[in-house]
Amino acid sequence: MRLRFAPSPTGALHIGGARTALYNWLLARGSTGGILILRIEDTDRERSTPENVEQILDALTWLELDWDEGPLSQAERGSRHREEIARMVAEGHAYPDEGAVRLRVPDEGATTVSDAIRGEITFQHADIDDFVIARSDGSPLYNLAVAVDDRDMGVTHVVRGDDHLSNTPRQALVFKALGAAPPTYAHLPLLHGPDGKKLSKRHGAASVQELRERGYLPEAVRNYVALLGWGADATTTFFTTRELIERFSLERVSRSPAVFDEVKLRWMNGRYVRELAPAELTERLRRFLGRDDIPEPAVAIAQEKMQTLADFWPLAAFLVEPQATDDVAWAKVMGDGASEALGRSREALARLDRFEEAGLEAALRGVVEALDVKPKAVFQPIRVAVSGRTISPGIFESLTVLGRDESLGRIDAALERLRTAGGST
Ligand code: GLU
Repeated sequence: MRLRFAPSPTGALHIGGARTALYNWLLARGSTGGILILRIEDTDRERSTPENVEQILDALTWLELDWDEGPLSQAERGSRHREEIARMVAEGHAYPDEGAVRLRVPDEGATTVSDAIRGEITFQHADIDDFVIARSDGSPLYNLAVAVDDRDMGVTHVVRGDDHLSNTPRQALVFKALGAAPPTYAHLPLLHGPDGKKLSKRHGAASVQELRERGYLPEAVRNYVALLGWGADATTTFFTTRELIERFSLERVSRSPAVFDEVKLRWMNGRYVRELAPAELTERLRRFLGRDDIPEPAVAIAQEKMQTLADFWPLAAFLVEPQATDDVAWAKVMGDGASEALGRSREALARLDRFEEAGLEAALRGVVEALDVKPKAVFQPIRVAVSGRTISPGIFESLTVLGRDESLGRIDAALERLRTAGGST
């Protein structure tokens, strides 16, 4: 198999483009083996910028999808395209029309292409005009360039979005004029949002870059995106990339629209996050946050509560460095009794020989008992004192990770604030 991924660099790589890239890659890496060509369709000179090309390569690299040939620039192949246009005119397959060149499409009959997902598709020639293949300045048009490139590059399978279906008979007709048989096509189903409308920005992250910024893991994205139109069976949801490579086939790609639901991706990503070894997750978080001072013990206790890498900082930043206290959280838990609960807790914690989870927990539960209050009357003031918020990883684990000096220092600061505010008892 020779496959190609052929993005137009007119913007970021969107979810649909990521799926097309992934499916091509899975086929190329699969048991039948294949070559994946990366072809940049940059003939729209105004919208195709080097920055956009960079963005697409970046997105593919982040997704860990590699290629075997390219990136090739379609625009740089202009002379090949012109050569074929001239030959088609010379051979009578095409003719000049007021400076432009049109391909001669028979009035009768039909062109049939084979599609690995849809079967044979027949297009009546009566519905296809003699279409323009070169502008009057000689520059080639899209369908001409794509077909010439696919032929020259020996592409055997064109796997692409459904939106290209209407181009297919024209490209097959160019193939015919080139004296070559068209490749096998596979048109992937449309992508919808959960509301059944065509996928767009309204539905959440639209580009691969945004997925990365939102803290998704590339392996989770590959798994989720693979399921947008494909399934090995009716029920399996989790596939390692190795399994996807082994099991993916065009025959099991659906014809009906697939739904991209970021809520499901989040859920799936959460499972991938929880399965990472803490050391590995720490590494990923350091890269994601661009700081190398993220301590692994902090990651280990936040991991259970995270669905994305982006969830870490709001949840656990206080374990890395002190955070400003949330006023609402403070007002909520630092009322009557907070000062005494904190003061007693401080004493109990200071008495500990070793500042570790089990001992910490026993000491604080002792305070709860002595004061005869609900556990949260003690734990919540401590939580707000050390984290600045009412939600955090487990309080005993958090104190353990912070260590004695930091924990006591933050509790002291909270006690001081209660005192200077005229404090309640
Ligand atoms: N350049 C086209 C696009 O980005 C893809 C063309 C093709 O796959 O044939 O939509």
